[in-house]
Amino acid sequence: LGGRISRALQQMSNATLIDEKVLAECLNEISRALLQADVQFKMVMNMQNNIKKIVNLDDLAAGHNKRKIIQQAVFNELCNMLDPGKAAFVPKKGKPNVIMFVGLQGSGKTTTCTKYAYHYQKKGWKPALVCADTFRAGAFDQLKQNATKAKIPFYGSYTETDPVKIAQEGVDTFKKENCDLIIVDTSGRHKQEASLFEEMRQVAEVSNPDLVIFVMDSSIGQAAFDQAQAFKQSVAVGAVIVTKMDGHAKGGGALSAVAATKSPVIFIGTGEHMDEFEAFETKPFVSRLLGMGDWSGFMDKIHEVVPMDQQPELLQKLTEGNFTLRIMYEQFQNIQNMGPLSQVMSMIPGFSQELMPKGRENESQAKIKKFMTMMDSMTNEELDSSNPKLMTESRVYRVARGSGRTIREVNEMLEEYKRLAKIWGKMKGLKIPKKGDMSAM
Ligand code: GDP
Ligand code: MG
Repeated sequence: LGGRISRALQQMSNATLIDEKVLAECLNEISRALLQADVQFKMVMNMQNNIKKIVNLDDLAAGHNKRKIIQQAVFNELCNMLDPGKAAFVPKKGKPNVIMFVGLQGSGKTTTCTKYAYHYQKKGWKPALVCADTFRAGAFDQLKQNATKAKIPFYGSYTETDPVKIAQEGVDTFKKENCDLIIVDTSGRHKQEASLFEEMRQVAEVSNPDLVIFVMDSSIGQAAFDQAQAFKQSVAVGAVIVTKMDGHAKGGGALSAVAATKSPVIFIGTGEHMDEFEAFETKPFVSRLLGMGDWSGFMDKIHEVVPMDQQPELLQKLTEGNFTLRIMYEQFQNIQNMGPLSQVMSMIPGFSQELMPKGRENESQAKIKKFMTMMDSMTNEELDSSNPKLMTESRVYRVARGSGRTIREVNEMLEEYKRLAKIWGKMKGLKIPKKGDMSAM
């Protein structure tokens, strides 16, 4: 997909004369790519028309930044499409906020409910989960398991068959217990059917939610618009969460969900685990939609952060997929030289959240320094190998002794290396844009 778009833009920049025909061809190619990413046909057509209006052909013909102008226009247009023009309801701490989750079966509601609760719990909230899904056998058990794991109070029943009753009782119970985030999980069916929507309407009536969140599987494709619209027509959907963004789907259906519900996307799900959950950010999402992954912003940063003379070599190494301990060491060195670095580091995939949590930069710096002293005790062979099996127990022992650290600490450093190598491994085979080339994206 990304290749396709860059190819289209490439063709365009190769054409000496930028006339209407060339622009149309370029837009057609981008449109095909967006359709493949599950963006709705009608929206793609709208985007095409808007771009034709925005992009001034005379400017294109005269200027040398043709690619950039078109890229920027496409990028901005997609960002606009994800902006419904109003923010989602923000829960108010200390009040009993009721949040209802809706979506078809399998979209990830139950999983996402827990992730959402856990996200707030970590920030000091007092969340609670209500299982108003009596349709699917095992629904309560699933929620109960998730909730127990996260130590979040839950409410549900094995015998009661009326979801409306459970919703009411659950919400009442937790209001009395002064929970400030009461989350109501609902059932879905395989198909959109009248009984489901009637049930959603009734559950909403008794639980009186401050926010209804529509949960959408990123891989549902062109069905997203109708699905989102159907839910919006029965309950007041006010936000969207897109799940399974860790898969292959680009999530273009999110644009449809935003249009159909006139609500913003607030979070994305990036895995089955509780903490695989991220606040939605428009620009990285659009980059991904255009097939550019998280790496576009990163590539710009690498040009800023890594000294010029090291760039070609580093990029070469990375695209060959050999993320060695030495590369990690060199990156740590760059980090050390950069001073206050939270902002820059947050751009580099893998470095941001786990290695360098916000507000704990000093701690992170100390950890990096510690890692570097251990790596100083490694041989060239070890530093230049990209085979994690090379670090046998006796080598780990030697490094620990040499650096005055424990075996556990050396292993921790090696784990960090493996984690980064996995993330950076995605660079393998990636076409690296030249400086400035992709900055529009
Ligand atoms: P529900 O029927 O809407 O309640 O959906 P569930 O929460 O039961 O999720 C359905 C399946 O999708 C489960 O196997 C989940 O583990 C999985 N799932 C949910 N969210 C994600 C996600 O973000 N990534 C991945 N890979 N799997 C997910
Ligand atoms: Mg469920």
